[in-house]
Amino acid sequence: MSNTSSTDRGLSRRDFLTRAALVAGGAAGASVVGTTPAFATDEGVIGDWAADGSSEVALLDSRDTNASSSDGTYRELNGAAFPADDATPIAPRPIPASWDAECDICVVGAGGGGLNAAARAAQLGAEVICVEALGLHGGNAQSAGMCGILGGLSMQESKRFAFPSYPFDPKALTAWVMDEYHYAADPQLIYLIAEQGGPSLDWMASCGVQWRLGEVPVYVAPKNSTLDHHVLKMKDATDAMFNYGQRHGVEYRFQSPAQALVQDESGRIVGVVVKEKYQREVYIHARHAVILTAGGFCNNKALLERYIPTAAMGCASSYLIGGETGECFRMGLGVGADVSGFNSSASFDGGVDWQAEGGTWAHFLYDGMTQLSRQPWLTIDRCGNRLRYLDSRVAEDGANAIYALGDLATIQMANPGHRGYIVFDGRYEEYLAGFAQEHCRKLMTPDLEQIEKVPEHYRDWHHGVQDALKADVLKKRDSLEELEADLGFAPGILTEAVARWNETCERGVDDYLYPMPPEWLHPVSTPPFYGCRIGGNLYSTKAGLLINAKMQVVGVDGKPISGLYAGWHTAGGACGENSYIGDPILGSLMGDVGLAFCGGYLSGSAAVKHEMAGA
Ligand SMILES: Cc1cc2nc3c(=O)[nH]c(=O)nc-3n(C[C@H](O)[C@H](O)[C@H](O)COP(=O)(O)OP(=O)(O)OC[C@H]3O[C@@H](n4cnc5c(N)ncnc54)[C@H](O)[C@@H]3O)c2cc1C
Repeated sequence: MSNTSSTDRGLSRRDFLTRAALVAGGAAGASVVGTTPAFATDEGVIGDWAADGSSEVALLDSRDTNASSSDGTYRELNGAAFPADDATPIAPRPIPASWDAECDICVVGAGGGGLNAAARAAQLGAEVICVEALGLHGGNAQSAGMCGILGGLSMQESKRFAFPSYPFDPKALTAWVMDEYHYAADPQLIYLIAEQGGPSLDWMASCGVQWRLGEVPVYVAPKNSTLDHHVLKMKDATDAMFNYGQRHGVEYRFQSPAQALVQDESGRIVGVVVKEKYQREVYIHARHAVILTAGGFCNNKALLERYIPTAAMGCASSYLIGGETGECFRMGLGVGADVSGFNSSASFDGGVDWQAEGGTWAHFLYDGMTQLSRQPWLTIDRCGNRLRYLDSRVAEDGANAIYALGDLATIQMANPGHRGYIVFDGRYEEYLAGFAQEHCRKLMTPDLEQIEKVPEHYRDWHHGVQDALKADVLKKRDSLEELEADLGFAPGILTEAVARWNETCERGVDDYLYPMPPEWLHPVSTPPFYGCRIGGNLYSTKAGLLINAKMQVVGVDGKPISGLYAGWHTAGGACGENSYIGDPILGSLMGDVGLAFCGGYLSGSAAVKHEMAGA
């Protein structure tokens, strides 16, 4: 691995995007679920929010739970709001007397990573069974908008784009990004992503995915999507990969969550136990390998607390509404796997604290309340200090527009008590148009292009805000004093912060270290008054099973676990340790969904190469 050159060492993430002529276009994470996913919702199983996250949970009133653990941290996570709350390893099963199904390679998960792993292994000659917990393919990946990629994709040649300099050199990219990761990552793994990211997306194109390059050449999106973030959909890509897998003989088994790995006496992983249709245990013999590509654990409270405490404290919600319950990670732990990427995750701003009011932890990204919370309101921490706002208007500053989404999350997560508080008054609707926030901060209105892809309830942002008011997540009070008490502030904190803010508004010039532009200075003076507790909105866990550059899961003894492979996000380590937002491009070197695609391609390739000699 070459060392970072002196020229490159000085480049920040913003510099590189500015250099990439970032003047217009979309953002990673700027996407929408096409329709409410038809995820499996059998009673008492993964994805059954009614059973798992009841709004009837007995909770302390929010005024008593204001980020107030005895050590000052935000620890009052409401376990019942999460669909999973268990960090214990899942023990492997011994070989059964007889198997129910046979294949060369069993892929667990049919989302962004799993579809690629299955298709790639089948293309290379393996007989593949792919098991999926939900009732359809695509996972959360189908809701994503864009992949990020910093070079090496053939389409980027047309713009002569590569970072840190053209032509593309994966060693130079690795050197730069290791610096961004503060060297807390495995350089071999990072090099693998840098080198294989482009080929993995090119390979998807050869399988039928139609890509288009964004105006910003860092981003690539499915061809039929527009660059309006509300309608960007990776579903075209996941559908194409599913179809490719079907044409090449992959047997998909839906509503069949993996429950345990099967291990032989030598310690080799030789199969998977699934609960077919959530009813009957079925043993699948994987003659050569098992690949875990079943997402991460954004929706498992106990795993978050143990492996990503920063997200457990700082995030107020998750927007990955399917899966993410972490069984596959726990299965890896059960066969002695090591963990990498400790305390790394990725979030956007504007996680709304529904769970503190007895609501569910995971919410649709475009639920209206999420967007309302992400506007430039007066925002303070629990001491009354103002929190900086980061603008996502593209015209203002292209680089900031992209990074605003992730960096504002860290601002909202890292202050005392790990929560921010937005406050506005009865005239708030008048101010929204002037804020003109972009990407997934933009409010849903019925006139938007392709609005039909949005679940009906959310086509008008007012509906989600009404839901929040009803749940008292967005608090509406007649006086500031009442709001102050009910948000859990000590007396005087909120009222004095508002008084200072109103003076600033009257002056028309903001003297704060990070001033708001004059057109955003709206006093909080007309009742009723509104307030809401916010934090990060988690979309990816980056802690996961330790893998080597062959995508093999590695045990705590430092040796690969025979027969077991993993791709991101069941694997960890893609952005090293202790990363809030998975720098450098909102999630990792390849964004978030791109990383899953790349990991699937790599693990499918590697399992065949290393376990099926002669294939
Ligand atoms: C609204 C939205 C917008 C987004 N926008 C972007 C974007 O623009 N750019 C970006 O880079 N990222 C974006 N993301 C994030 C991106 O979608 C995820 O990072 C990506 O889906 C991760 O892929 P994955 O394969 O790891 O997980 P998934 O796609 O979620 O796939 C995992 C699959 O495994 C299944 N599974 C879980 N447990 C089991 C089990 N025990 N047995 C069998 N199957 C199991 C799950 O049901 C799921 O289908 C967005 C996400 C959402 C929700």
